[in-house]
Amino acid sequence: MTNTNIISTNKSYICANCNQIINDRYMLQALDKMWHEDCLKCACCDCRLGETGSTLYLKANLILCKRDYLRLFGMTGHCASCQRLIPAFDLVMRCGELVYHLNCFSCYECQQKFCVGDRYFLYNNQILCEDDHERTRKALLSSSTDSSLFSK
Ligand SMILES: [Zn+2]
Ligand SMILES: [Zn+2]
Ligand SMILES: [Zn+2]
Ligand SMILES: [Zn+2]
Repeated sequence: MTNTNIISTNKSYICANCNQIINDRYMLQALDKMWHEDCLKCACCDCRLGETGSTLYLKANLILCKRDYLRLFGMTGHCASCQRLIPAFDLVMRCGELVYHLNCFSCYECQQKFCVGDRYFLYNNQILCEDDHERTRKALLSSSTDSSLFSK
C-alpha cells in the first residue's frame, strides 16, 4: 500500500507511465516515481488515483485502487467446501458470500462439476446441481406436514 502525493515543482520529471516529460504544474509522486495526474490509474477500473492521500496498491506489477485490490486479492479465505485456505492468486468460484476452489465447486450430492452456464443452486450452504436441487425440494415438500402451504 502506498500513498499518493501531489507535488508542485519546477524540476522536470519523466512520467513513469508514458515516459513523457511532465510539464504540468502538479504531478503525482507514488512508488518513488513521478506521474502525470492522468497517468496514475487503476489497472482494473481506470479510476484516477491522483487524489491526495488516496492509496494505491501494487501487486504483480499492477497498480490497483483499493477497491479492486480487495476484490482481486483481499477476499480470499477458506474454501467453503474443503475448508482449506485459498491462495490469493488462485481462481475461485464465488457463490454469494462463499468462495470455493475451482475444483471444489461441485454438486454436494452427485459431485458433478459445473461448467460455465450450468445452473446450480445453493441449499443450506451446499451447492446442488439442478437435478439434485429438484429432488431435494420435492422430498422436502412431500415430507412437510403442512403441504397445503406450498400447493396452489
Ligand atoms: Zn504520463
Ligand atoms: Zn480500480
Ligand atoms: Zn476447496
Ligand atoms: Zn447433483
